[in-house]
Amino acid sequence: MKFHEMPYRRVTTEQVKEFCDSFILSFTSAPDAETAERELRRMFAFSLEVDTQTSLCFTRHSIDTRDAFYSEEMAHYDEQGPLMQLSLQKANDVVLGSPYRKDLEHSIGTLYFRKLENEKRQFSEAIIPDLQEENRLTTEYGKLLGGAELHFDGKTLNLSQMMPYRTSADRNVRREANAAYFGWFSDHRETLDRIYDALVRTRDTMAKKLGFANFIELGYIRMERMDYDAAQVKVYRDEVKRYLVPLVTELNKRQAARLGLDHLVYYDVDYLFKTGNPHPIGTPEELVEKARAMYHKLGAGEFFDYMADNELLDLVAKPGKETGGYCTAFPTYKAPFIFANFSGTKDDVDVLTHEAGHALQMYLSMREIDVPAYISPTYESCEIHSMSMELITSSKMEPFFGAETEKFRYMQLVDILRFIPYGCLVDEFQHEVYANPDWTPAELFTKWRELERQYMPDLIYDDGLMSQEDSYLERGGRWQRQTHIYERPFYYIDYTLAQVCAMQFYLRFDAKDPAAWSDYLNLCKLGGSRTFLGLVEAAGLKSPFEPGVMRDAVEKFRVKLAAFDDSRF
Ligand code: ZN
Repeated sequence: MKFHEMPYRRVTTEQVKEFCDSFILSFTSAPDAETAERELRRMFAFSLEVDTQTSLCFTRHSIDTRDAFYSEEMAHYDEQGPLMQLSLQKANDVVLGSPYRKDLEHSIGTLYFRKLENEKRQFSEAIIPDLQEENRLTTEYGKLLGGAELHFDGKTLNLSQMMPYRTSADRNVRREANAAYFGWFSDHRETLDRIYDALVRTRDTMAKKLGFANFIELGYIRMERMDYDAAQVKVYRDEVKRYLVPLVTELNKRQAARLGLDHLVYYDVDYLFKTGNPHPIGTPEELVEKARAMYHKLGAGEFFDYMADNELLDLVAKPGKETGGYCTAFPTYKAPFIFANFSGTKDDVDVLTHEAGHALQMYLSMREIDVPAYISPTYESCEIHSMSMELITSSKMEPFFGAETEKFRYMQLVDILRFIPYGCLVDEFQHEVYANPDWTPAELFTKWRELERQYMPDLIYDDGLMSQEDSYLERGGRWQRQTHIYERPFYYIDYTLAQVCAMQFYLRFDAKDPAAWSDYLNLCKLGGSRTFLGLVEAAGLKSPFEPGVMRDAVEKFRVKLAAFDDSRF
């Protein structure tokens, strides 16, 4: 079925309650384990349909946030979602307390029950108003950013459409575009401060109502982290500071030398080469066709045809569309969906590989796995699929970048190494914020800037022509553009953990390891049937928390990067 043909029907609270009530009745009166399992599978089918409908609503809303119908539907779920959760929680409670639990654990797996227990810990009727408030606030933030209109280069542009200007070969354009981009945030600072302050307070209140000291522990539970805790994450971040940050400093120096600059200013960082960043060749439609050919060669052609032929790719930036990119799925149709904002930059190709990695996993898992809770793993595992795909396809980029392919490959590795410290910065910042929920906006800014100096010691905002916008950054405002900080607390470290896994896949592909592709596909098929560290092990990778893994990866990448003759770029 094509995307536009998929019917949308609102899921109502009454519907969910009615289903859960009938489930509770039949499940608790099941005379044997077999009947109980049959009932549980009826619950699985229902939850797939609910996921499909909410996902359709979310997707259509993000494609055009101005669409009144889907805006109203989103408001409905923001408001009613927590009430639906209440009914589902009651149903989950009877599953957890089932006299046939041992048999069910045997046929469904114990992880399912651990997930239910995890859900139970993060929810109670008392926090429903707070969950509703949290939803309203994150929606407000998304709408604010999605509706941004910047006047630049004689055009009205949204935030995503500023990207080509922000990485322009002309340093003045770069400077002005970044000033306009961050100027928009600076102009909306009061609203951005208000939304975040309310979010932090709401989350802190929820945590306390549920019996936690603060939101940090609850945040980890919401991220379904069963393998590791905040103390291990801190050790990992410290390894990043110790081994990786110095390598990034070396790369920054190399870049400044290439560009003929004394040092990089913040708007130079994403402009890597004197001859310009690599640009993909072709229209969005042509890029999709190139991607199709590439995935056929890789052995995932059937998957990509399915995506392209069923309108499951919405790639072009347009007014009213939310910023960023994501992959979701409509499980009733076993259909993944990719959302992006093409901007004519290298990012377009990154989306076609990154989100396609997510989509391939969902495509395979939805066909292999019959327990909905096992289709997608936790986020740090999901990002292994996507970030590895970016690197796996690195050797197949000639059709996209032609003569600029080597430049693309170099940039890809630099981007990865730069990203990890930034991701850890976002993570440490959030730990600080939720440990200190009473901080004022000014205190948040100060802490951000202080951490920025640890993770990105070379970052310079003041170019001697400091404008109001630059001083917003200098004071510590940059985090306000990072949607995850508002929308998905504690998510960000996941990207970096996955990146360390993806780097290992890259090194294996690079060394022509014959098991690398089958291990990757196997990892995708496993979906969420194991926890993070279980999946990492199944894929033949080392845990990012294992001592020495970071240092080893950094050393190998240092050697790879040294082999590029970037003076030609
Ligand atoms: Zn991703």
